[in-house]
Amino acid sequence: MPTDLYKVTLSEDQIPTHWYNIVADLPTPPAPPLHPATGEPLTPADLAPLFPMGLIEQEASTERWIEIPAAVREIYRLWRPSPLYRARRLEQALGTTARIYYKYEGASPVGSHKANSSVPQAYYNKLAGRTRLTTETGAGQWGAALAFAAEIFGLEAAIWQVRSSFEGKPYRSAQMAVFGGKAVASPSELTAIGRKLREQFPDTTGSLGMAISEAVEVAAQDPNASYSLGSVLNHVLLHQTVIGQETLKQLEVFEEPRADYLFACAGGGSNLGGIAFPFIRENLAGRQQVKITACEPAAAPSLTQGEFRYDFGDTAGMTPKLKMYTLGADFVPDPVHAGGLRYHGMAPLVSHCYHEGYLSAIAIKQREAFEAGVLFSRAEGIIPASESNHAIAGAVRQAKATPAGETPVIVIGVSGSGQLDLPAYTEYLSGEMPNT
Ligand SMILES: *Cc1c(COP(=O)(O)O)cnc(C)c1O
Repeated sequence: MPTDLYKVTLSEDQIPTHWYNIVADLPTPPAPPLHPATGEPLTPADLAPLFPMGLIEQEASTERWIEIPAAVREIYRLWRPSPLYRARRLEQALGTTARIYYKYEGASPVGSHKANSSVPQAYYNKLAGRTRLTTETGAGQWGAALAFAAEIFGLEAAIWQVRSSFEGKPYRSAQMAVFGGKAVASPSELTAIGRKLREQFPDTTGSLGMAISEAVEVAAQDPNASYSLGSVLNHVLLHQTVIGQETLKQLEVFEEPRADYLFACAGGGSNLGGIAFPFIRENLAGRQQVKITACEPAAAPSLTQGEFRYDFGDTAGMTPKLKMYTLGADFVPDPVHAGGLRYHGMAPLVSHCYHEGYLSAIAIKQREAFEAGVLFSRAEGIIPASESNHAIAGAVRQAKATPAGETPVIVIGVSGSGQLDLPAYTEYLSGEMPNT
């Protein structure tokens, strides 16, 4: 029987000491990234112009556990361990006998899980003597997380923000500015690829693929600069595994030794990988049988409708080719509110796990996502990020499908806070939100 607790917070000394690398436990190895020009498997030297060696080593590592540097754990203490809640009032609102738990990453300084990776990324760049970080951001969460982390380690942050978000979410650029970062709308006039894209597509709303091309171009040309990616790559998913490790511990405190379902939203795959990989480890070891579901937006359904093949991570074909579920590097999703989910591909590690059957996926339209988000807000008092609403919608479907009297344990990854997404909620409540 579970305890009657509402939340489990753990103490600071229970912050994980290591990141978990799922590659060590995968029965078949994931396909390696390929050089964009030669098509040969990528070497560490190929990545050196873009990333510091500490991160390149993590990208290729097959070690199961990688120690979290003391300086990073120190910063993690600002918001970790993040709370795991029992969603008692959501259960009541749904009239379900399922037990629903949610891991809330929205209490981090920047309001999402992204700081779990931006802080170590800035740290390893500082260690390597870099002074400037370039990056892309969709809705602005990653840009804000990187600006915050860059400031901590005394680095400069130059951020290309997808134009539709830059214009639709002015508070995010303000947030980046408060943390000391500078955001420009992408495609911009500042890069050769940006100028070319603007000429070709004068009305473009931008995309993550375009913004990545711009940030990579600038980092490749400046020896003091590194490129930082907020999702997709192995080292980013690695950093996020603090989420799943804590969740497993917290479920024990709730006296729930086993979970039955796990739902997380999936854009590039980092919060999903972060919460799910420690559970996949438990599944592979035969200790749990958790059904894991990636919840993607119907506007960018890379897992449910994409092809599993090598593709570029960006629009211009400057990044390595990654084996992943992709809608094509030139795919520009409809401008839905979950900007962080508008990506044409999916992390190679998540793609591999999906291909091997370790997780499944569903696509959710934004009205269903916001309907679930409003229900959750009214029950739990937390307004979730637009992206997180997709995970909640997946869990709500599961709870509604639960026969009365059955008590499956459903865990939701709530990746962020929706305080800066309120205009999207207003649009939903007014009935004007397009159902894409
Ligand atoms: C960026 C973001 C996402 C999507 O990115 P993933 O790499 O798929 O996790 C989801 N939720 C929030 C709150 C985000 O900021």
